[in-house]
Amino acid sequence: MKIHKIKGYINSVFIAEYDHGLLLMDGGSPADVELIEDFCKNTLKRDVGEFMLSVVSHMHPDHSGAAPILRKKYGIKIAAFHNIDRWYSGPSGWLQHKLDCFMAQIVAWRNKTKIRKVFSQRITSPDFLLKDGQQLPFFNDWSVIHTPGHTSHDIALFNEKERLLYCGDSIINIKNRFYLPLPVIFKNKMRNSYKKLGTLDVKTILLPHGNDITTDNCKEIFKCMERLLEEPPNRIRRRVHIFSVWSPDIWKPSIKKFLFT
Ligand SMILES: [Zn+2]
Repeated sequence: MKIHKIKGYINSVFIAEYDHGLLLMDGGSPADVELIEDFCKNTLKRDVGEFMLSVVSHMHPDHSGAAPILRKKYGIKIAAFHNIDRWYSGPSGWLQHKLDCFMAQIVAWRNKTKIRKVFSQRITSPDFLLKDGQQLPFFNDWSVIHTPGHTSHDIALFNEKERLLYCGDSIINIKNRFYLPLPVIFKNKMRNSYKKLGTLDVKTILLPHGNDITTDNCKEIFKCMERLLEEPPNRIRRRVHIFSVWSPDIWKPSIKKFLFT
């Protein structure tokens, strides 16, 4: 198995190359479709149809946008956590989706990237609904780890044999400084997710935002992330949070808790 990292529109996407097929981690932006196709044909010299699976780590448009387009064009199946389509459901989910697409374009603009298509499909309808601890379809050397905090349905992928971890947005690495994802919606769940990730025997952490991390002390990295959670949020973090609380997966459980406890 060989890992390839491609710099996409907003984040990087990873391709795990096997003799029996290709695995996409994760769903990329709509603007990344051409990039993935080109890399596949011209660098890997393989047919795009050899992708057997796209894993969508969470619904944000830079992680879920390319996968449905690739499924439509090439029949590439999508796997994601089982509750993923609740995130942008209903009228308030519709609003959150538009806000997230808009915020993704702000990130592209701040990174001085030429503005391209980021508006993604609001509902993914995965072919495989994943649960915590299960192995990936077609690629059973990868197991699924539910890591809520940034959203309710984030997942990481762990390859025990290769000591590799793809942890989605759980860590942002900018110039070798670690940052929390923007936003952290569920602080306690995020803390538990870091504790869980810190127990894994990991040598390399694959990051869609920033440089990958090679480490002999994975536990300390996630301890450091836990410490960041305790710092007061800065102005940008507070602003982004205000625009990120409209998913029904956020307000519905709060209302239920208020009414029934
Ligand atoms: Zn995200």
